[in-house]
Amino acid sequence: MEKSMIGKVAIVTGGSYGIGQSTAIALSKRGVKVVIADIIEDPFHQTLNSIVGAGGEAIFIRCDVSIAKEVQQLIEQTITSFGRLDFAFNNAGIEGINAKTHECSEENWDKTIAVNLKGVWLCMKYEIPEMLKHGKGVIVNCASIAGLKGFPGLPAYVISKHGIIGLTKTAALEYAKDGIRVNAVCPGVIHTPMIDRLTKNDPQAAAQYTAMEPIGRMGYPDEIAEAVVWLFSEAASFVTGTSLTVDGGIMA
Ligand code: NAD
Repeated sequence: MEKSMIGKVAIVTGGSYGIGQSTAIALSKRGVKVVIADIIEDPFHQTLNSIVGAGGEAIFIRCDVSIAKEVQQLIEQTITSFGRLDFAFNNAGIEGINAKTHECSEENWDKTIAVNLKGVWLCMKYEIPEMLKHGKGVIVNCASIAGLKGFPGLPAYVISKHGIIGLTKTAALEYAKDGIRVNAVCPGVIHTPMIDRLTKNDPQAAAQYTAMEPIGRMGYPDEIAEAVVWLFSEAASFVTGTSLTVDGGIMA
């Protein structure tokens, strides 16, 4: 176990399912106290139960990351419950509706940008003041390989992820001398509920996503979680402003 992480406090947005769930559990295994923040409370409390069942500490806080008041309350409740904030994985995101640029509705555009891009900004807006109080903190924003290249049919998603990378670089520069590191992670195709929705569980559609992966398979959420844990850790103490691809070789 990485000793420097024991007793630290992390917020994981979108922690009910997928990459967020795996990251919350991976952080807990390092002794981190975890706030699982999500718009949906999983009825089976899978993230919470697997952390608490293994002897870890976690709470669930309902929060829509696109609403400022809810994000502000998320940070306030985190401080009330655990007294500090050391790490934040701003991961909550939606894929939006598949439609080419001229067919993308204004509603689809606004919703996707609100959750994916405004949501990450709002989280940082309220997380950073807490980190500044202690002169220390690490933020990891969940971008995507869609933040580095175009994907036909996903204009709002692609823009939101490109925006996250710009926001990450900007915040990294703004707070580099304040002890706060800010990085992004760019997953490739990772087998989560999001991919199941995109493929509609059709094996042929899933095979098309797998075919994008030079490594010959989809990634597991745990493989993103381990990269995020590393970015939070002291082992990454000189890493800020970067966008780490964890993508089975797609961007190569
Ligand atoms: P997922 O749909 O499996 O999980 C997303 C989580 O975010 C869910 O728990 C959901 O309830 C939550 N969420 C959605 N809207 C929210 C909101 N407004 N406020 C709070 N929580 C909200 O998706 P995933 O695949 O685990 O994706 C997690 C992140 O990884 C997303 O930002 C996604 O864009 C990114 N990503 C995923 C892949 C992939 O292949 N799965 C690839 C690249 C990037």
